Amino acid sequence: MSNEGWKDLAPGGLIQDAGNSAEYETGGWRALRPITDMDKCTDCMLCHIYCPDSAMLLKDGKHGGVDLRYCKGCGICAQICPPKAITMVMEAEPKEGAK
Ligand code: SF4
Ligand code: SF4
Repeated sequence: MSNEGWKDLAPGGLIQDAGNSAEYETGGWRALRPITDMDKCTDCMLCHIYCPDSAMLLKDGKHGGVDLRYCKGCGICAQICPPKAITMVMEAEPKEGAK
């Protein structure tokens, strides 16, 4: 058994660089993905405010879809979208024969 003290242990759980969440792509967790019907979208930008991962994209100052590198598929955007322009769909249909 080692006689190391706490000062000898390697440091862990430290966040050393500010703004490092941009490097942590949460899209890999996603089971559902949001699809926007741009014909229904009124560019109210509520989804941009509510998205917990700041995954909404701007295009020419308007809603420009979702950055799927960061969208984790929580569905909040679909819930709050006033004209119901966002629909959550399965990320991938199960392969034939898969259980
Ligand atoms: S599903 Fe969740 S994480 Fe993805 S864009 Fe909508 S609010 Fe953001
Ligand atoms: S909440 Fe709905 S209507 Fe508003 S910008 Fe997002 S997708 Fe468009």
